[in-house]
Amino acid sequence: MRIAIDTSKCQAYHRCTVVAPAVFGLNANSKAEVLDPHGADDATVLKAAKSCPYRAITVTDEGTNEQLWPRK
Ligand code: SF4
Repeated sequence: MRIAIDTSKCQAYHRCTVVAPAVFGLNANSKAEVLDPHGADDATVLKAAKSCPYRAITVTDEGTNEQLWPRK
């Protein structure tokens, strides 16, 4: 899984960090950042991305390059 965060959309809602705390953290500017893209299984990473109310997290399958979230 490849994870990208649009920090301009992140409002420090903390949902991603609660669902997958080993994958997501908040930096000193209160913006989410990826700590370890492999810190949780794929389903948990997707769940965390979907939990973001601002759709700030994009998840892409590294193998197929398919964007899994948000759905296009
Ligand atoms: S859930 Fe979204 S808004 Fe909240 S910290 Fe994560 S990326 Fe930012």
